[in-house]
Amino acid sequence: MNQPLPEYLQADAAAAALEQKVIAWRRDFHQHPELSNREVRTSGVVAGHLAKLGLKVQTGVAHTGVVGLLETGRPGPVVALRADMDALPVSEEVDLPFASKARASYNGQDVGVMHACGHDCHVAILMGVAEVLAGMKAQLSGSVKFIFQPAEEGPPPGEDGGAALMIKQGVLENPKPDVIYGLHVFAGIDAGTIAYRPGPAMASSDRIRIKINGRQTHGALPWRGVDPIVISSQIVLGLQTIISRQVDVSLEPAVVSIGAIRGGVRDNIIPDTVEMLGTVRTFNEDMRADIHARIRKTVDLIAQSAGATSEVHFDNPYPVTVNDLPLTEHAVPTLERVAGAGNVVVGQKITGYEDFSYYQQRIPGFFYFVGITPKGTGRKQAAPNHSPRFFVDESALLLGLRSLTHLTLDYLAGKHQRAT
Ligand SMILES: [Zn+2]
Ligand SMILES: [Zn+2]
Repeated sequence: MNQPLPEYLQADAAAAALEQKVIAWRRDFHQHPELSNREVRTSGVVAGHLAKLGLKVQTGVAHTGVVGLLETGRPGPVVALRADMDALPVSEEVDLPFASKARASYNGQDVGVMHACGHDCHVAILMGVAEVLAGMKAQLSGSVKFIFQPAEEGPPPGEDGGAALMIKQGVLENPKPDVIYGLHVFAGIDAGTIAYRPGPAMASSDRIRIKINGRQTHGALPWRGVDPIVISSQIVLGLQTIISRQVDVSLEPAVVSIGAIRGGVRDNIIPDTVEMLGTVRTFNEDMRADIHARIRKTVDLIAQSAGATSEVHFDNPYPVTVNDLPLTEHAVPTLERVAGAGNVVVGQKITGYEDFSYYQQRIPGFFYFVGITPKGTGRKQAAPNHSPRFFVDESALLLGLRSLTHLTLDYLAGKHQRAT
């Protein structure tokens, strides 16, 4: 097992020959970033490429998504590979000849647009994988579905989109993939290194919206009203005790953060209402439901105790990104073959979320991280994903291309199949 077969050598030779092309694609996407659900140019380039490779191409999935199907004509597994295509409302500060100068309107504001999460790399890598595998079609069995997904960062307010919408529109049917693989380039991990985590790897996320309805009064006469500002202060502190005192954090970590409080207009008026926004992150779906219930209870009872009423809403939901255990176990030797044994590490849990989790709710999936920080920079010095100074060491592109290609080859050849 896992000895170099001619197939691997052939794939690696094809990948190496493609490296400059993949870098050029990535720079082109980097220079022309597009916000979530606006990936029109990007998906056009992708669709053109897949069609040229002879794949069956479907466009306009979940607004701007593209799905390519490589059919070998021989029976075998169906492997899905996913890349996200969207950029962020961030103004690039990296000094590069292909730095983004793009601007767009987001939420009514004029903003800079930048591939500050590295999705430009994901698109270029998956285009490369498609080219390598299409070139090896005669030796392969089964099918490969290439999923180029819009709006991973979340659709603009008032719109739907992303993985959930792609699934709703049938991306996991006809044919139904047996498994799905995806990767993310990640700052703070050295280029050349791959990090993964079995089981829960990235958090669930839910936005909390809270409204406290008090009764407006003069700031000098608080007893004549119900003060939602003091109640909100108690609630903010009360919510923190859910994590610190109530849930078993020895099982999994969790986070509750309030990020916005709005209420009042001047010093001597106690307002009618206060609104708060926050986020909940968990690594376990049961804990997620439990924490939601505790948030409702904490808000409602504190408000009640002071004579106010409260409203609590959760929206913008993302499930926990959970790597299938057998699939992960089988992926590790493949990744070690590609990156070198010392270069594949178990990473930390990440309290950020990924909408790749929606695919994993339906089929076994494996999502891993490819380092992009130049060696010697240090974890703390590297500008994180979403920073205007996010920087990619492009040697990571070849590693991304080879790793996804090898994972697919091994699964198609039956080397990763789940024990039956
Ligand atoms: Zn991101
Ligand atoms: Zn991302």
